[in-house]
Amino acid sequence: MPGECNHLELAQNVGPKTEGCEECLKEGESWVQLRMCLICGRVGCCDSSWGRHATKHFEETGHPIMRSIEPGHNWTWCYIDKAYL
Ligand SMILES: [Zn+2]
Ligand SMILES: [Zn+2]
Ligand SMILES: [Zn+2]
Repeated sequence: MPGECNHLELAQNVGPKTEGCEECLKEGESWVQLRMCLICGRVGCCDSSWGRHATKHFEETGHPIMRSIEPGHNWTWCYIDKAYL
């Protein structure tokens, strides 16, 4: 299986820390879609949003696993393997 990921072991039993993208809320900005870091519960916006805060969170913290928290979405993304899990 290509991109087999062993980073899911890092995931914690966390829930979203904020109702929206934490950075965007601070700035009073809006976002397109939300992602949640499965390691610390940080909520960030997707790469279609102006802030791309989910990706920035990975770059700043090295937390590689995030999940879409959009209704109807049921996927997790690993930044290191660049793969859906
Ligand atoms: Zn991985
Ligand atoms: Zn954002
Ligand atoms: Zn995190």
